[in-house]
Amino acid sequence: MLFRTLILRAAALPPVKALVTRSRLFRGMVHRFVAGESIEEAVLVAEGLAERCFNVSLDLLGENVATVEEADHEREKYIALIDRIGQSAHRDKVNVSIKLTALGLDQGEDVAERNFRTLLEAAKRYGMFVRADMEDSRYTEQTVAMIERVFPDYPETGTVLQSMMKRFDDDVERMVRLGARVRVVKGAYLEPPEVAHREKSVVDLNYVRAAKRLLEHGRYPALATHDERIIAEIKAFVAEKGIDKASFEWQMLFGIRRDLQEQLRQEGYNVRVYVPFGESWYPYFSRRLAERPANLLFIAKSLAHR
Ligand SMILES: Cc1cc2nc3c(=O)[nH]c(=O)nc-3n(C[C@H](O)[C@H](O)[C@H](O)COP(=O)(O)OP(=O)(O)OC[C@H]3O[C@@H](n4cnc5c(N)ncnc54)[C@H](O)[C@@H]3O)c2cc1C
Repeated sequence: MLFRTLILRAAALPPVKALVTRSRLFRGMVHRFVAGESIEEAVLVAEGLAERCFNVSLDLLGENVATVEEADHEREKYIALIDRIGQSAHRDKVNVSIKLTALGLDQGEDVAERNFRTLLEAAKRYGMFVRADMEDSRYTEQTVAMIERVFPDYPETGTVLQSMMKRFDDDVERMVRLGARVRVVKGAYLEPPEVAHREKSVVDLNYVRAAKRLLEHGRYPALATHDERIIAEIKAFVAEKGIDKASFEWQMLFGIRRDLQEQLRQEGYNVRVYVPFGESWYPYFSRRLAERPANLLFIAKSLAHR
């Protein structure tokens, strides 16, 4: 936890950002986690995964726009993405994930809702599911409430809930009541102790409890983790309760634990790979580095061998 805090704080410093975004050394590492900058590159990656029987969620990277015009621009980029996926032979296996701050949440809930509804309308033409990713705790209530407002009109939407959050169980129940799809994650943001648990054991326990609740009472839950211990525990629960493997999916990040993704798929589970792409890759990349000391060691070794 201390490591993650340090890395996320360091990554926010402008000189560090300048070094990482300009250095060629980091490019290779970025390409491990990010599928390219253009829609065409991302769709190519998605189609390759779909051909290997994976489902995909494409995330056009970007968060926290500064103006209403920028939010409108992001919405248009997402609509172009949705239309492009709609032309693909693999469109049934590909959906999209979006951050509401990219659609203007900082500019007003009404701005984000207008853009989100336009996007959902575009996706509806292809029967495509659109998920609102969960951002830091300043946006948790707004995101959950947004889903509650749009879901009656657009049931092919859902969100993400983070097991590190103290409000997590309440939000799980809100989504169960609504009947909306939930992606369960541990949480990737630096949060103050008033709102989030710091102990890994508590975060993991909350995760497993909610996953079980959603497997029995939720709508097609997405269990997003690379944690083998948690995966084993949930697999045992699924077998014990006779839960249909087709009634939920595992989700993992592009470039992380490809062996585990392949193994689960071969065992007959649905596996969706979350594939981020776009020019604004820096915040996403920082969060991935902070999750695992080995990622930084890899960079340090490359620097040493230059
Ligand atoms: C599909 C998907 C969507 C997500 N969406 C969101 C979201 O909307 N909001 C949000 O806050 N968070 C999101 N996350 C991130 C999540 O909150 C965690 O930060 C991340 O998944 C790491 O937690 P973990 O469950 O894999 O377990 P951890 O305990 O962090 O890791 C378990 C094991 O996974 C492997 N691993 C994990 N991370 C990495 C990495 N970066 N590089 C290499 N190996 C790694 C390692 O082997 C590690 O030992 C998402 C994660 C996934 C998989």
